Amino acid sequence: MNNIETYDFRGKRAIIRVDFNVPLDEAGNVMDDTRIRAAIPTIKKVLAGGGSVILMSHLGRPKKNNDEKYSLAQIVPAIEKLLGHKVIFAGDCMGDKAAELAAGLKPGEVMLLENLRFYAEEEGKPRGLAEDATEEQKAEAKKALKESQKQFVARLASYADVYINDAFGTAHRKHASTAIIAEYFPEAKMFGYVMENELKAIDKVLDDPQRPFVAILGGSKVSTKITIIDRLMDKVDMLILGGGMTYTFKAALGGKVGNSICERDQFDTALAVLEKGKKKGIEIVLAEDALIADKFGEDADTRQVPADDIPDGWEGVDIGDRTKALFREKILSAKTILWNGPVGVFEIDKFSTGTKAVAEAVAEATARGAYSLVGGGDSVAAVNKFGLADKVSYVSTGGGALLEYMEGVELPGVAAIRNK
Ligand code: AMP
Repeated sequence: MNNIETYDFRGKRAIIRVDFNVPLDEAGNVMDDTRIRAAIPTIKKVLAGGGSVILMSHLGRPKKNNDEKYSLAQIVPAIEKLLGHKVIFAGDCMGDKAAELAAGLKPGEVMLLENLRFYAEEEGKPRGLAEDATEEQKAEAKKALKESQKQFVARLASYADVYINDAFGTAHRKHASTAIIAEYFPEAKMFGYVMENELKAIDKVLDDPQRPFVAILGGSKVSTKITIIDRLMDKVDMLILGGGMTYTFKAALGGKVGNSICERDQFDTALAVLEKGKKKGIEIVLAEDALIADKFGEDADTRQVPADDIPDGWEGVDIGDRTKALFREKILSAKTILWNGPVGVFEIDKFSTGTKAVAEAVAEATARGAYSLVGGGDSVAAVNKFGLADKVSYVSTGGGALLEYMEGVELPGVAAIRNK
């Protein structure tokens, strides 16, 4: 594995896997350029070192080739603006034109390949199979695609001398451009700055936290968060659990949760978490009161009640005022904070004040010297919504990748660079 900081890029063509999967409006304008902005330092480093850059990314989930709606041509102006540099658009990532442009690329030049997912080979998942395809046909299609994937990867690799992976958001996928291509660059593969910073921030929290270490986990379900809860119990001093999960815990303890989201098949899991917390001396903090609503929407009727005494016909959609104060006090006691998942249905303003209170408490603790890492799509959306992104220590760009990394899974995109 090489290091971007010290690598000699003079005269080298670097192919960089970036995550330019940005939201676009109907007219194809970039609505949030965070991901493009994040990749700029890596691109500039290669250019400043005397190299040239070939950018590759996916955008959305196209199901066929050349679907204009998913063309990366749309984001060229946004990259040029943020980079302050011309970007050559190569079109088709496989065509002769891309190969010719790459071969003729001069130091200081930047080119962008078309959406990698225009080809099924990128993800390695067969497309267009008949609905009634037999298992045998599916296996055949998969085998054929694996073969053509080798050519796809070899072609991408042929464009460049160096491979840089800077797409943390897709690092948990073993795709052509995120992992497999690294095999072609045993002596010239490295992380870009986005990847490096992500891994550093997460490792700092997981491996060397200042104590007390408090994790706040929200979101909708216990079943999707249980692996991370379990893993974090080996690391943290306190676990604050919020969101829809709350009601599975409350119901497992014998409470009344009305129509709140509740996974009956997770009662044993929830009780085991509480038991494990007790054994390990980890404080597990659950909501005391809830904001309940008679329906989902801004026009809902709401009330605040104890979180384990919710009447039928009503559901818990946010934490109540007492819990806001409780969570704040606990968060302020932390020296290291990890936050994943909203504590209420924050997409609806009326149900968002609990998540806002958590975001504010995390920002306040950070201002007092705690290190805070916020990650996972929805909590990132929440800190952005409340304008607090620059008041926490680190906002992770990875959703699934972040969770899997924290769960202890070796991410293919990370392993492909780190391992020989
Ligand atoms: P996750 O993807 O598991 O992190 O879940 C995020 C989602 O959980 C968000 O869309 C929230 O609206 C939702 N959520 C948070 N609290 C609740 C709740 N009390 N009831 C239902 N959904 C919730």
